[in-house]
Amino acid sequence: MDHALPRLVGEDVQVPCADGHQRRYVNLDYAASTPMMADVWEAVEAFVPYYSSVHRGTGYKSQIATDAFEDARHDVARFVGARPSDHVVFVRNTTEAINVLAAALPAGTRVLSSPVEHHANMLPWRKHDVRLLPFTRSPEHLLEATEAALRSSPTDLLAVTGASNVTGEVWPLAELASLAHRFGAQLLVDAAQLAPHRAIDMAATGIDYLALSGHKLYAPLGAGALVGRMPDDGEPLLHGGGAIELVTLDDVIWLDAPDRFESGSPNVIGVVALAAACRQLLRVGMDTIAAHERLAVRYLWDRLATVPGLELYSLWPGDSTDRIGVATFNLDGYRDPLLAAILSAEYGIGVRHGCFCAHPLMAELRGYDDDDMREFAAAIRAPGPNPHHPGAVRASIGVGTTAADIDRLVAALHSIERFGPRSEYAYDGEHDEYSPRALAA
Ligand code: PMP
Repeated sequence: MDHALPRLVGEDVQVPCADGHQRRYVNLDYAASTPMMADVWEAVEAFVPYYSSVHRGTGYKSQIATDAFEDARHDVARFVGARPSDHVVFVRNTTEAINVLAAALPAGTRVLSSPVEHHANMLPWRKHDVRLLPFTRSPEHLLEATEAALRSSPTDLLAVTGASNVTGEVWPLAELASLAHRFGAQLLVDAAQLAPHRAIDMAATGIDYLALSGHKLYAPLGAGALVGRMPDDGEPLLHGGGAIELVTLDDVIWLDAPDRFESGSPNVIGVVALAAACRQLLRVGMDTIAAHERLAVRYLWDRLATVPGLELYSLWPGDSTDRIGVATFNLDGYRDPLLAAILSAEYGIGVRHGCFCAHPLMAELRGYDDDDMREFAAAIRAPGPNPHHPGAVRASIGVGTTAADIDRLVAALHSIERFGPRSEYAYDGEHDEYSPRALAA
């Protein structure tokens, strides 16, 4: 373990397993939600005695809390290399950030996006005029397809992920930004997965808008951010108090950004935590973190490739693309919910399984075509039990991951492949879940 890396809360927690033994929990689910950094917890504990209402209170604690809340904007802005003219809007998470932007842009905004996006960067655009790129085979193919799409129709916004939450590839953002700008479009990056793992410099890269979640950034207290130059007269997603200059019985004058987009009492403690995470990650250095994780993900992929019958999924097969710490796979003979249940119940390993809120991408990776998906949708709409989604198991890593964690996963998969599960599993069809029935002899 690299001692320069941040400490995490709960690193040594033991969990009960189906054989009656306790094992050290191996967290391979960072891409869903990260543990809390110890420094974030300390910052929150130091702030909590001063917690009070922000903006409206005149008491001493309100002043401290308001300063902490407003200072947090600078910490987040610095973390992502924002320009002085960018706003930092505090929201709950990436989903809300993208919905806030989608609401603020004029109706009929012409959006170009990709079919591999998380639903959070897909569904909000459907109320605008959205076109999708094809599935691409390489970063070069992505850039060619993007250029062709931008050339063929006027586009206001290119909305893409910074790194795939299913397969981990880091997207060529500087090239995408310069293409977008060449054709008069702006670039939104869904940085839910990128921000915890790679340095981001919005100004240098040319990213116009960026969305991130604190719970994926070692600050799981319910705050996230949308960063960018918000449109002056953008429609706020939420209507209510705190965002208002004046309300009369038939009129409303909204405040300027960022407050205009932050109706309702904010999550001050979540924001304090998010800012503490940004400061600590910068102190450690995102390049140090990326170097650790690049080694770890290489090791993870190399070791997984030794498991017979295991299929690993890639957007762009080949070794040259930078990849955040994600490996998504299936093991022959095991449905993903069963494999994930065995890893948890018998080995104390936490992974995620399913479609990772990226149904079109999972369908593509699992070889379902449009007709298959139409049939699938019809079967879901019909009465009776739902068909099984085209899922997989995802192991994802972060600053706390060690070689020993990866070895535990790979040894478990070898053992499952060779000897099968040690317990019997009961199937809960309503939730499509398995749980161990009893101990094996
Ligand atoms: N985008 C990506 C790439 C993600 O991985 C996720 C979370 N899985 C989201 C968006 C949505 O994040 P949140 O649930 O925090 O809104």
